Amino acid sequence: DIPVRNVCVIGAGYVGGPTAAVLALHNPMVKVTVLDRDPKRIASWESNHLPIHEPGLAEVVRLTRDGANSVTSVEPESDGIDAAARQGNLFFSVDSPTCIGHADLIFLAVNTPTKYSGRGAGSASDLSALESAVRDIAKFAKNGTVIVEKSTVPCGTARLISNILLSVRPEESFPILSNPEFLAEGSAIKNLLHPDRVLIGSTPSVAGRLAARRLAALYASWIPGDRILHTNVWSSELSKLVANAMLAQRISSINSISALCERTGADVREIAKAVGTDDRIGAKFLKAGLGFGGSCFRKDISSLVYIAESLNLPDVAAYWRAVLNINEYQRQRFTDMIVSRLSNTLNGKKIALLGFAYKKDTGDTRESLAVDVIASLLEERPTEIAIFDPCCPKDGIEREIAHLDGAKDRVKIYSDPYLATSGSSALAILTEWDFFKADRPLPVLRKMPPKAEPQAQATTAAEAPLRDFTPPVLPACPDGCQNCVSGQRQALLENGQRMDWSRVARSLRG
Ligand code: NAD
Repeated sequence: DIPVRNVCVIGAGYVGGPTAAVLALHNPMVKVTVLDRDPKRIASWESNHLPIHEPGLAEVVRLTRDGANSVTSVEPESDGIDAAARQGNLFFSVDSPTCIGHADLIFLAVNTPTKYSGRGAGSASDLSALESAVRDIAKFAKNGTVIVEKSTVPCGTARLISNILLSVRPEESFPILSNPEFLAEGSAIKNLLHPDRVLIGSTPSVAGRLAARRLAALYASWIPGDRILHTNVWSSELSKLVANAMLAQRISSINSISALCERTGADVREIAKAVGTDDRIGAKFLKAGLGFGGSCFRKDISSLVYIAESLNLPDVAAYWRAVLNINEYQRQRFTDMIVSRLSNTLNGKKIALLGFAYKKDTGDTRESLAVDVIASLLEERPTEIAIFDPCCPKDGIEREIAHLDGAKDRVKIYSDPYLATSGSSALAILTEWDFFKADRPLPVLRKMPPKAEPQAQATTAAEAPLRDFTPPVLPACPDGCQNCVSGQRQALLENGQRMDWSRVARSLRG
């Protein structure tokens, strides 16, 4: 087999960037270039402040991009890569003709969101970014380049890619593989370094098998052979949708039980433990909460529902749609609870929301559950909804809530958690950031006795004016940049700092 020497990853996002970096790390002889049409994103990947936050990512990128020999190991147990001996082999670019033209193998890692208009709006996948990338491949790629679907796509997309390529280059051949990505945001580097499995779907032809072997050889640099699974293309494409649908289904299952618990006096955490210790069921994804958010679960289940409907399988579609319905129901229950605890009105009240990211350890604002919570709270016309998230960029939050009625006047985004919570009547933690964790039970979350007890610090302090309030000192950017919010936040998260809850308690409205 001819080894792959030049890889192009189209799409410098949450999947393309980390995947390319880990691929480059473990294949020092392979040049990996990440191509994106957004020059700002590319510039950011080349700077000291990467466009996405992922634990461990900055180290891998520095090592592979700059050949930074000061970093000798990404993870103590990782591998025998001799970092000091090699130069950087990871590149970022907007130059499609060169990157695509030189590649032996191209990963398609572009976004495939849910369509929001036209046929299938609200459930089908929008493949326009993918189509545009494939048209670039048709223009610039050399004959025989292996095309790999890394993006999550509906079952049958490989045929669509093949048809586009055939229509432009009918005499040439481009093997198409499916190689979906199973990483989770917040643990992307860990997942890429130690995946449960890598799935490669190929056609049962000689060219298909050869292409699959060439791709598998790249992964074999760090992943044991028995974790590299080979299937046909359609199984591989569908497996990704099914994996996400089943994970989301567990969340909806336990959340539906949480509603039952609230009516019966059972404790959903005890139930999750009792049920999860059965090793046929397992303990993961059984934490009741606000539901699932993020750019993948909702979109991928919707895509599955759409595929089932298109294939005239209404019962299958209804089954998976129920998983989405429970997710919405759970959020509505949450905001109903806030409003009812505040005498059924938010008028004249400030509500603080801690966390905007859909899960901890990511700054991704897309499809955040917080948006639905904010929309629902805004209907009650509070004086203010204050948001603090230790990682989400302000413009990302603004973009997600811009369409909400009243957001412009009533929603305020803070970079200081204590200013965000100060004077609020309710405080909701929407993301389980370690920064929000308290070592002891929170005095502010206990129901206050009607009469303040003088010795209880939180009670007396809650009523005290904010005399001693001083803004927190954020740690300095590790790269020494002046007034660098992203660097300061990164430092805040990396140095394990925790929120000072007694300070929050002092500043809440009684
Ligand atoms: P993203 O939006 O973060 O990144 C996509 C990038 O592709 C963007 O930077 C965009 O500018 C670029 N792009 C779009 N069209 C292009 C074109 N024609 N040429 C060059 N660049 C182009 O998306 P993401 O979160 O990385 O997701 C990518 C795919 O991976 C999606 O299909 C998603 O469902 C799937 N996936 C995502 C995750 C996740 O956790 N985010 C996990 C597994 C799989």
